[in-house]
Amino acid sequence: MLERGCVQVYTGNGKGKTTAALGLAFRAVGRGLRVCFFQFIKGSGTYGEHLLAEKLAPLMTIIRTGRPGWVNTKDITADRQAAQEALEQAKKIMASGEYDLMILDEINGATAFGLIDVEQVLELIRMRPEKVELVLTGRSAPQQVIEVADLVTEMRDIKHYYSAGVPARTGIEM
Ligand code: ATP
Ligand code: MG
Repeated sequence: MLERGCVQVYTGNGKGKTTAALGLAFRAVGRGLRVCFFQFIKGSGTYGEHLLAEKLAPLMTIIRTGRPGWVNTKDITADRQAAQEALEQAKKIMASGEYDLMILDEINGATAFGLIDVEQVLELIRMRPEKVELVLTGRSAPQQVIEVADLVTEMRDIKHYYSAGVPARTGIEM
C-alpha cells in the first residue's frame, strides 16, 4: 500500500518512544495499512495497547516477546535465546508481505543489553522490503543503525514526573 517505505528510529532517554510508535500505528490503521507491532523484552505486564490491539485485529497485530520480568543482566543466556528467536520471527513477518508497517519496539534496548548484535539489526534493516515502513524504538540506538536510518528522532528527557515520585500510571505509562 505504501509507494515507498522508510526506516525510522525513536530513541533517547525521555518518554515518548513507544507512544510515538503507537500513534503512528493508529494513523496507519486509519488509512487501512496493516500494522505489526512487535515488541522485544516485553514478556510480561498488560499495557493499554495490548487491550486495544485485540479490538483492531486484523488491521493491527501486537506480538510480545521476551521472558517474563526484567532482563537478567548477570546471565543473559535465556534472555538472549528469547531475543534471538524473536528476531528470526520478526524477520519472517517483515518479509511475508502481510504488513505495511513493521514496528520493532524496544529492539534498541535488546541490542544494548547484548541480546541481539548490532550486525543482526543492520542485516534486518537491509532485508526490509522496499514498500515496508520499519520503525525501531528504544534508548541507546546504535550509531550504525542511526547512520542507515532515514529518520531519527531523539526523545530527550528535559523533565519527567517520575523523579517527583509520580509512578507509572495505568492508561498513561501502561
Ligand atoms: P512510553 O511508552 O511512555 O512512550 P518510552 O517508550 O519512551 O515511553 P521506555 O524507554 O520504553 O520509554 O521506558 C519505559 C517506561 O519508562 C515508560 O513508562 C516511561 O514513561 C518511563 N520513562 C521514560 N523516560 C523516563 C525517564 N527519563 N525517567 C523515568 N522514567 C522514564
Ligand atoms: Mg518504550
